[in-house]
Order: sequence, then structure tokens, then C-alpha cells
Amino acid sequence: AADTAMYHAKKKGNDNIQFYTEDMHESNLRRLSIEKDLRQAIENVGLELYYQPKVDLRRGCIAGMEALLRWKHPVQGNIPPTVFIPIAEESGLIHPLGEWVLQQACIQNKAWQDVGYPKMRMAVNLSPHQFRQQDLPERLAHILRETGLDPEWFELEITESSLMEKTEETMVMLRRLKALGVHISIDDFGTGYSSLNYLKQFPIDCVKIDKTFINDIVESQKDSKIAYAIIGLAKSLDLRVVAEGVESVEQLSFLDKHHCDEIQGYYFSRPLPAAVFESLLQDRLWFSRRYAVKFPEKE
Ligand code: C2E
Ligand code: MG
Ligand code: MG
Ligand code: MG
Repeated sequence: AADTAMYHAKKKGNDNIQFYTEDMHESNLRRLSIEKDLRQAIENVGLELYYQPKVDLRRGCIAGMEALLRWKHPVQGNIPPTVFIPIAEESGLIHPLGEWVLQQACIQNKAWQDVGYPKMRMAVNLSPHQFRQQDLPERLAHILRETGLDPEWFELEITESSLMEKTEETMVMLRRLKALGVHISIDDFGTGYSSLNYLKQFPIDCVKIDKTFINDIVESQKDSKIAYAIIGLAKSLDLRVVAEGVESVEQLSFLDKHHCDEIQGYYFSRPLPAAVFESLLQDRLWFSRRYAVKFPEKE
């Protein structure tokens, strides 16, 4: 295979040599075709937002939801966001895409409020490029105004790693976003390298414990100690704390015992299409049926 492969070695830095093989050539082609199809999907609205509830354990209700992008490719089927978001980032498509997501999420939350469901916070993910876009606060302000959604019910999820680079600029951008009245949460918390000092200074409202720590929270002493420490840290800074990736009642019960504020994960619900999410809102017993920990007699 080595002689059929096309090698183009490129000197990068000192001794960092990059090889392009036929495999990589193929994956580049695939990437290009995904980019082309994604461009089309954005234009023809071939994308859909799913919504995953975040459950408030103390109040016993859905506190909010996270909008998660879904793309059903006409030939290749579902392509996960972990594949197409990075491609969108590199190609600049993230800007029209991100704009569509912000707008769609605001429209949907406002629509649910107008129907009369209890008000909930709608969270949208921001990729690193979106977060660095200088006119983001103005764009978001415009969308909130146009859709009529009160910023109080809107939240941005920004990953810990994108917050920890260029911390001066980060601080300025966070302040501008915060001035709109929206909530800001740190996504995938624990996977980056947060300086506790910044955590204290940044105008943020919430941390989301990354699901890699939640996975083995029951089996691994280390992970449960990390989760416990993050909850304590968040509380001491007056931040709301959310656990993502909660799949079992054992994980839920650990987090409940340690007063984690909100829980998100397959245990309560997978991300759902809008119509299905709405049926959760209509089902008043949904929470108590799933929440076997506090209401064991009802299970
Ligand atoms: P994230 O923001 O950390 O989202 C959480 C991911 O965990 C979602 O994957 C969700 O479906 C998944 N998840 C939720 N509960 C569970 C669980 O109990 N177990 C397991 N194993 N997974 C669970 P998804 O939807 O594939 O999204 C992956 C990532 O793609 C997101 O990570 C986010 O960074 C990015 N993403 C998704 N939608 C958007 C978007 O509209 N814009 C941007 N910029 N990024 C997005
Ligand atoms: Mg997120
Ligand atoms: Mg996350
Ligand atoms: Mg994550």
C-alpha cells in the first residue's frame, strides 16, 4: 500500500512532518462534498433543531432545553454535528448556520411561551469561531428583538476551551453578550484547563460538567470526586451547575445527593424534535414518572 500511496511530505516547524496519503486525499474529497451539501442544506433548510430538556431537580420541572442541530443528508443519512460543525467552522459556513440556529431557537422558545407553557430557558451552542465574531452581540440583539424573546430566557453555551484562549478578548466579548441580558454557561467543563481566577472573573451564570466525568461517576472514585469538586466550586462562586450525559438512576441519585442543580441526559430524555418535546410539556406526570429517586413509591 505504501508504494501506491501518494506521499507529499511537508516540513512544518522543526521535525513535524505531515504526510498526505490516498486515505487523506479521500477524506479531503469527502470533506469537500460534505461542505457542498451542507451549503445546500442551509439554503434549503435541510437542517432541524432537536431539543433536550434540562431538569431542575429541586423544583421538579423542566428548567430549560438545549437546541442541538441535526442534519439528515439525502444520501448519507444522519451526519452528527461532531462531524459537520468542524467542517462548517473551517469553511466559514458556521456563520450562516449559526445565525439560523440562533434565530430558529428564539422563534421556537417564543412560540412555546406564547402558547402558555411555563417559561423555560433555551440554550444554544456557540462554536469557537462564532464566539470570536466581533458583531455577534449586535446580531444576537437583533434576533432577540425581531423574535420578541426576552433575553432572560435565552442562554449561550460556550465551551471551556474556547473561553480559555485569548482571555482578554474573551472577557470583553462575554461582557458585551452579558449586557444583552442573556445567560452564559461554560460547556464541557472540566475538559479544558480553566484558571480558577478567570472562572471567578468571567461574567458567567452556569457550568456544565462534561459527560466524560458523569459516565463513570458511580464506578470511578476519581470521577465522582471531580464531579463533587466541580459542584462545590460552582456553588461557592454562586453559579448554577448542570450535569450532562446522565443516563442512569444511579448517576442521577449521586448528583441529587450532592445538590447538582440541573440534569441533562438520556435518563430523562434524548434530544427530541420540536413536536415531541412539546408532548413532554403537555405531560404533567412526565417528571415524577422519570424521577424515581424522589418518588420511589410512584414508580
Ligand atoms: P454538547 O453541547 O456538549 O452537547 C451534548 C451532546 O451530548 C449532544 O450530542 C447530546 O445529544 C449528547 N447527549 C445528551 N445526553 C446524553 C447522554 O445521556 N449520553 C450520551 N452519550 N450523550 C448525550 P450531539 O447532539 O451529537 O452534539 C455534539 C456537539 O456538537 C455538541 O456538544 C456541540 O458542541 C455541537 N453542536 C450541536 N449542535 C450545535 C449547534 O447548533 N451549533 C454549534 N456551534 N455546535 C453544536
Ligand atoms: Mg452544549
Ligand atoms: Mg456539553
Ligand atoms: Mg459535550
